[in-house]
Amino acid sequence: MEHDRNKTRLLELQRAAGTGNDRCADCGEPDPVWASYKLGIFVCLYCSGIHRNLPGVTRVKSLRLDFWENDLIEFMKSHGNLRAKAKYEAKVPPYYYIPHSNDCLVLREQWIRAKYEREEFVAARVCQDPCTAGSREGFLWKLGPGRRQFHKRHFLLSAREGVMKYYEKESRGPKAVISVQSLNAMFQEVKTGHAHGLQITYNTDGQTRNLFVYHESGKEIVDWFNAIRAARYHYLRTAFPNVPEHELIPRITRNFVKEGYMEKTGPKHKEAFKERWFSLDSQERNLMYFKDPLDEFARGQIFIGRRDEGYEVRPGFPMGVRVKKRKPVITLVTPGREFVFICDNDKKQKEWIDALDGIISQC
Ligand code: ZN
Repeated sequence: MEHDRNKTRLLELQRAAGTGNDRCADCGEPDPVWASYKLGIFVCLYCSGIHRNLPGVTRVKSLRLDFWENDLIEFMKSHGNLRAKAKYEAKVPPYYYIPHSNDCLVLREQWIRAKYEREEFVAARVCQDPCTAGSREGFLWKLGPGRRQFHKRHFLLSAREGVMKYYEKESRGPKAVISVQSLNAMFQEVKTGHAHGLQITYNTDGQTRNLFVYHESGKEIVDWFNAIRAARYHYLRTAFPNVPEHELIPRITRNFVKEGYMEKTGPKHKEAFKERWFSLDSQERNLMYFKDPLDEFARGQIFIGRRDEGYEVRPGFPMGVRVKKRKPVITLVTPGREFVFICDNDKKQKEWIDALDGIISQC
């Protein structure tokens, strides 16, 4: 009886207005069904799994399946997600990446550890300025040009100089000097085959170059990611002093809006279809294609302009083109050329059309 009554009280508390308890305290996922009874927060199933690995700072129970004593319910009542946020997220720097429910495990785990285990953002901490936070030096494993092996390379990031460099041998000069102006970073667990895999991109001679790196330590790679973000924030804040914060933050780093394999033919639409890996960057309005997903440079890139400039995407072949392929097709119309892509299935065709159309429709 008491068990049922307490369960009802807990579920009411999860939905109570003004508590923030109706969304996971760590990733924002709606309707969290677990709670940390040490921190007094409501969390989703996925984040509860991360909390379970930190028994020194947090302990979780299921709202529905576990027994909740009266005093624990009172504790949850006097705490809750909004109060925890005010304490543990008091000083999250503007450049720090706050993960969502669709982000990879290493980002979510390090966010939770940074908040509750290391208490990096409590009010007593001094918040590092972006220029200091955007300076970092150390080793990362970098994928070699043959795409087979990762090599240990020394990396140096300087927000003050606005560059990131890496060295093959420290006695020699840098192998690459990368301007923070075009620098981007995103986690790529599947593509790199590494849970801490990070894709770094930058522009060199009008082309996008990819670097793939990882670090054995989840904390190190997420710290690198946020250091890159701090350097980017420092650059953007300096270069665009009048742009409001909410427009600047999404430009710090970005993920590709869509990636995956499609088959592509040549400009005459009669050439053999070849499988290519496509990456769509909405900020640069750039559709790149690669022979291998881990190639350093794209085979080609297609600028995606606006509808009123003559860009269009639609299912099916262009007029007059016939190919004996019983697979879903996409035609991408640009002022200079019509591109034909073949997708594996209807779902992928729809996803690509939606992603491309999203960019064509955006001004
Ligand atoms: Zn969560």
